Amino acid sequence: MSTDAVAGPRRTDRPLDEAGVVTAVRRAAERGATVRPTGATGRIPGPLARTDDVALDASALTGVVRIGPAPANAPADRGPGPDTPGYTPGDDTTVRVRAGESLAGLCAALAASGRALATVPDAPRATVGGAVQLGMYGGAPAEGSLSAQVRAVRLVDGTGRVREVTGPDLDAARCGLGALGVLTELELRTVALRRLRVHERTAATEELLAEGFPGAHAWTELDVAVHSGQALVRTADPVDDDPAAGDTPDPAGARTWGRAVSRLAASWAEWAEWSGRPGWPPPPRWAPGTEGPPHEVLPDPQPWDPDLAEWAVPLDALGPVLRELGAAVAARGRELRPVRVRTGAAETGLLHPASGRATAYLRIRTRGTSQEPVRRLAGAVCEDAGGRPCWTTRTNWGPDEMAVAYPGWDAFRAVRDRYDPDRIFTDPYLADRLGS
Ligand SMILES: Cc1cc2nc3c(=O)[nH]c(=O)nc-3n(C[C@H](O)[C@H](O)[C@H](O)COP(=O)(O)OP(=O)(O)OC[C@H]3O[C@@H](n4cnc5c(N)ncnc54)[C@H](O)[C@@H]3O)c2cc1C
Repeated sequence: MSTDAVAGPRRTDRPLDEAGVVTAVRRAAERGATVRPTGATGRIPGPLARTDDVALDASALTGVVRIGPAPANAPADRGPGPDTPGYTPGDDTTVRVRAGESLAGLCAALAASGRALATVPDAPRATVGGAVQLGMYGGAPAEGSLSAQVRAVRLVDGTGRVREVTGPDLDAARCGLGALGVLTELELRTVALRRLRVHERTAATEELLAEGFPGAHAWTELDVAVHSGQALVRTADPVDDDPAAGDTPDPAGARTWGRAVSRLAASWAEWAEWSGRPGWPPPPRWAPGTEGPPHEVLPDPQPWDPDLAEWAVPLDALGPVLRELGAAVAARGRELRPVRVRTGAAETGLLHPASGRATAYLRIRTRGTSQEPVRRLAGAVCEDAGGRPCWTTRTNWGPDEMAVAYPGWDAFRAVRDRYDPDRIFTDPYLADRLGS
């Protein structure tokens, strides 16, 4: 069945606590129903949270449980401890949070304790559980995605059993697509909260690549006009480490003003691009001298475009892929809106698109059926370079493609067989991707 044909759940359960999740899963199992966990529900571009059977909305499981060192009886693989070489106090501070908490709520609670997530994606309203299950990435070159920050998860499996997942199984669960169980709690690594100062400038893409993009910045992204080779490069670094710190005053209200300008600028850029006016370079996202905590200055929470496609290509293929995209669209007389590029470290998550390799994420924006050919063309270029579609992106990959692209494919299936032997956590789209 086409996923677009899925009308909607025939039943939605919204448990208020873990016991309610267990009840809902057991009831569905007894009745032979399938269950899809959802977070901020289905606002994702991909179809992974859609079902025509039972939706289990986990968004009421909110709240931060604990911020502090992992409990003394926690397994050794929970992260660094006082005995770890190079340990500095605070390194072992993790956060235990319920799966339905929003990223915005989590970041605010951490900031109040002087902590932060190591990577901050664009979607503050997404739930922690949903974001982790899809492998949501940020743009910190030295860091992995939110999935990589996970030290433990607690979930209700397909038999209704509650499991605290650490050890080898965690690499299946950290980007589990909601196929292993309903997450009720997660434990995540944290880092010290630091103020970031942001910069943006235009540059030639080839120069940036020659300089070693992404470089040593705490956070960076590019918007690349592939036909001209021009790029808008944005960087963020801790204020203490920023050579420009102090050059520009940070006027009161600059951040708020900057965000407002940024939204207007984004709208203007969209309009300019689509109305055929010169849309390059886009107006600045931030006011000069903008600085602040990562979760306030970095996210660019524009409405998600359902036609958007995201690809994860090996980092060392980034240059060739951008050149090939430019050549391919030019040769066919097509246009491609600026491609957003972020990078991240290799992941251990078995089905994470960055599994096993440092990765460049390409966000390719096209619109409507008329742009379908260019969307397919860009996808083919990324796939030829060893790219994997991100889980937010519609794909026709099935088990054969998965087995080739993901070295951990068999290991994931083995965990799935144990956690969900009767395949309760599935839907037509997921069944096509992962097989039965
Ligand atoms: C404005 C916007 C900006 C975005 N920016 C980025 C970005 O910068 N980087 C990026 O990587 N992605 C980005 N995304 C996509 C993002 O990764 C997804 O939208 C996010 O995962 C959705 O979270 P959600 O809470 O809505 O989960 P849902 O959409 O409801 O679910 C997502 C997946 O997680 C599963 N799931 C949800 N809750 C649970 C649970 N409790 N237990 C088990 N499985 C569960 C679902 O079954 C589904 O497979 C963006 C999305 C939006 C809307």
